[in-house]
Formats: sequence, structure tokens, C-alpha cells
Amino acid sequence: MKNIGIMGGTFNPIHYGHLLLAEAAYEQFKLDTVYIMPNKNPQYRMISSNISVADRVAMIGLAICENPHFTLSTEEIDREGATYTVDTLKNLTMKMPDSNFYFIMGADSLFHFESWYKADEIVKMCTILAASRASHVSADIESQIDYLAAKYNADIKLLNTPNLDISSHSLRKRIRGGNSVRYLLPDSVEQYIKKHHLYEE
Ligand code: ATP
Ligand code: MG
Repeated sequence: MKNIGIMGGTFNPIHYGHLLLAEAAYEQFKLDTVYIMPNKNPQYRMISSNISVADRVAMIGLAICENPHFTLSTEEIDREGATYTVDTLKNLTMKMPDSNFYFIMGADSLFHFESWYKADEIVKMCTILAASRASHVSADIESQIDYLAAKYNADIKLLNTPNLDISSHSLRKRIRGGNSVRYLLPDSVEQYIKKHHLYEE
């Protein structure tokens, strides 16, 4: 049996909050690898028109290349049409029947989970690993875990991570405003952003 973590996100851009979460999941749940899986966020075109999927993927590549615990997965961006987590999990289960899947998310995603397409089917195919995130206090997260676990008969576990108050949104805003993003994301990603003039006004 393999234990595979899946960390989905827009990664626009990838930052230390994402990487810390993935590493914590790897370590605390003895995973064999964590798939870093960029999605095709439908709202994404509106967020910043100068960012291509290729740029997001390139930044992920730079961010994870030195960590053997992580694997870039293009599962969702390679698929035609709308991509739902439920289909991703079905595909992976078919491709790797001898695997346990762990879907990794921050607290904000956990609070939106009920609105996910076929949430009831998602929980049958994976364990959810949830982490705290600034603005969500851990008591709230624990009660949300209990609530969802009861509602869906889901296996949801809390990840233990330091709380890094970093979001891609705040990074985009900082870059637009000409502010430093050093120490918030890997240097290689910062260099890429500068070189390609991403997120600038
Ligand atoms: P944006 O600000 O554009 O929404 P983001 O920083 O939230 O970007 P996403 O790609 O939307 O990044 O997030 C992917 C996953 O990573 C989500 O499950 C989110 O909850 C989680 N995540 C992102 N940043 C953090 C963080 N600092 N701490 C904990 N979880 C995080
Ligand atoms: Mg987000």
C-alpha cells in the first residue's frame, strides 16, 4: 500500500504556506509522496490575466525541485473541460488501486468543503488532512472537522503546523505595490516572477 498526499491549489504563486503544509503532511502521516497538483481555477482568469498555466507550473517546479518528498502532478491541468476533485480521485484510484489517498487542505478550504462538487463521494476515496490558517482559530477548525466527519462519515484529521499568514493574494498585492516578497516564497520563485514581470501592474 502506498500513501499518497494530494495538495491541490491554484498556486498563483506557490509560497511557503503551501510548502510547509505539504511537508507537514508528508512527515506526520508517513506519506510516500505528496502530489502538488495545480488546478484550473475557473475564476482564475479574472484574478490575473498575465499568468499562464505554464508560469504556475514552472514556479511549482522551481519550488519543489530540491525536495524529494514532492511530485508535481499535472493530472488536473492536462484534463479537458471542468475538473472536479471527485474525478481526480476516481482517476487516481483507477491508476493506483494499491494506494491510500490523503487530500491536504488549509482551514479556509475545509470551511467551504460542503460546497465542493460531490463532497459525499470525495470523502469515500480519501482521508482529509486539514491545517489551521490565519484567521481561523483552532477550536473552530476542530468543531468543523467534527461536523463534517459526522455529516459525511468522513475521515478528517488535523495537521499540526505553525501558522504562516501567507496567501498568494497577499503576495500578488505586495508585488503590484512594489513591496518585497522575500522570505515568503522560495528565492527561485521570486527570481522567476521578477524575470517574467509577473503580477506587476
Ligand atoms: P489565494 O490567495 O489566491 O486564494 P492561497 O494562498 O489561498 O491563494 P491556494 O492555491 O488557493 O493558495 O491554496 C491551495 C491550498 O493551500 C488551500 O487548501 C489553502 O487552504 C492552502 N493554503 C494556502 N496557504 C496556506 C497557509 N498559509 N496556511 C495554510 N494553508 C494554506
Ligand atoms: Mg486560496
